[in-house]
Amino acid sequence: MDKNHLDDLRIQVRDITFDIIRQIHKRMDMSKQIGNIKKTLDIDIEDEKVEQELKNQVSILSNELGLDNEFTGKIINLILQESVKIQKNFVNSTDNNIQTHMAIFMKAKELEKKGKKIIHMEVGEPDYPPPKNIKKVLSTVYDKKYYHYTEISGIPKLRESIATKLDKKLTPENIIITPGGRFGVFAAIISLLKFGDELIYIEPSWPAYKECADLLGIKTRVLNTNINEDWTPNISNLEKLINVNTKMIVLNYPNNPTGKILDKTVLDKIISMARKNNLYVLSDEVYSDYSFKKFTSLLDYEYENGIIISSFSKRYAMTGFRVGYCISTTSIISKIKKIQATAITSVAEPMQYCALSALENETNSNCDLIKDRLDFIVERLNKIGLKFIKPDGAMYVYPKLNSTRFSNDMELVNIMLDHGVAISPGSGFGKSYNEFIRLSACQPTELLKKGMDILEKFII
Ligand code: PLP
Repeated sequence: MDKNHLDDLRIQVRDITFDIIRQIHKRMDMSKQIGNIKKTLDIDIEDEKVEQELKNQVSILSNELGLDNEFTGKIINLILQESVKIQKNFVNSTDNNIQTHMAIFMKAKELEKKGKKIIHMEVGEPDYPPPKNIKKVLSTVYDKKYYHYTEISGIPKLRESIATKLDKKLTPENIIITPGGRFGVFAAIISLLKFGDELIYIEPSWPAYKECADLLGIKTRVLNTNINEDWTPNISNLEKLINVNTKMIVLNYPNNPTGKILDKTVLDKIISMARKNNLYVLSDEVYSDYSFKKFTSLLDYEYENGIIISSFSKRYAMTGFRVGYCISTTSIISKIKKIQATAITSVAEPMQYCALSALENETNSNCDLIKDRLDFIVERLNKIGLKFIKPDGAMYVYPKLNSTRFSNDMELVNIMLDHGVAISPGSGFGKSYNEFIRLSACQPTELLKKGMDILEKFII
């Protein structure tokens, strides 16, 4: 009897599963039609408002049926992501044409190979050298036998030194050395979030957070900020983005590309909202040593679901050494460790010893140098009459183009490149920012002057 009943139920379950697949097929077919209409009407593929409404309605239905809201939310995210993908393929979305600062950097490198001289105002790569004492480390690597695998989370001496330098309460177990801050971001996201979860980040933004989430099937929700509000995130808009599937909010201050540092009162509100909703906070602080006003680190909050990303790349001008680190609770660090073990085993030992020596150096002069150069760019932008917020930190200025001579940022970026100056299009930091450009202060002032002279010619 029981066996017959089981067989019967299995047949019904199979039929229902078939029905679900047929319905999904029907839905995807409709997505194509919607994509076609959007193409004709020339409207954006992604519509946060429509998605949110659908999610809210499904949440109500899910409650009525007594289903787990988080589970139904994930299914909806999955379906929505697939629909967007179908529509984008079908419509040949303009998103595919957006170019990031890295794409311009690569173009500039190609031009240099052909013999063209380029002033690099597009990337955030210091033009000054790393500390001198690293040279000695590099020359002794072989004799000292620094050529082995290390502990997954990095050599203890390096983690101890970082912990001591930062805060007495930190232990080496709170730190994992990663190959650059970028891998730290990736490892933190992949170890804490799953397919169908949601991550909030703030635009304009360094593109890697979204790229990382997209790669992993994590739904991103964007909190847009604007120049008229000094790039300060609106807390009530942030609250509206949080739902049962939200797992993480990403912060990046001092900010790339705007140079903004949040006021502590705003940060307080964000952290308390994260706490209330049990969210991870990923705070990318790779520019913290380039702060021209008081910067409050997430470390100061002792937030149990916080992960701080830091790096030797900007602070010590060590981009090519590929050494960064994550700071968090031992339980989060052990999750990140699993990803690191699977992906890379450990960071190259010689590079970790170089980083250890770098820690002996003060970096105030790097910060002063960048500040002076930014002040120079700021003065020139004021003369040209472009609107921007004076950077509080980092290495960039993010002015708004008010010229009617260009239909968008890329037009100016291409003209500038033709004239030997690489700058970044604003849209690379969020598609709605195509009236902006990002200027980086990683060249000597004489070159920045030449670059600004050329920019002025096309702007005025
Ligand atoms: N975070 C931000 C905001 C960045 O701008 C960058 C690099 O430009 C990084 C992280 C990554 O730096 P790295 O991987 O070299 O440590």
